[in-house]
Amino acid sequence: MPLPSMKLHGAKSCTAKSKRTGLSCNNLAAYGCRTCRMHGARKAESIKRGEQHPNYVHGGRTLEAQLEQSATACRLQQLEDAMHLLNMTTAKRSPGRKANGYCKVTSLDEIKKVIK
Ligand SMILES: [Zn+2]
Repeated sequence: MPLPSMKLHGAKSCTAKSKRTGLSCNNLAAYGCRTCRMHGARKAESIKRGEQHPNYVHGGRTLEAQLEQSATACRLQQLEDAMHLLNMTTAKRSPGRKANGYCKVTSLDEIKKVIK
């Protein structure tokens, strides 16, 4: 619980909320941050990404790599739609959720866009 005098002088409060109770944290936010020290106060410029991150191993799980994998999966699912639309296969559809950004191919014009 912060000192009442700190709140009177315009100090910012932590924006974190409890998952269990839904109540907001009563601590003061760290200088230049939105949250307190208990809720991961970090400045945006100090967050390490990509090869600078300490857990970086091979780059297969970076944000860029995941976006590329998602785009590839989306394209494959659209090609599968095109195959079914053109009666090129009688195989069952692939199970599971569709990739992010996937939109179903339903016409010949959309097939031309996918193939390009
Ligand atoms: Zn907090």
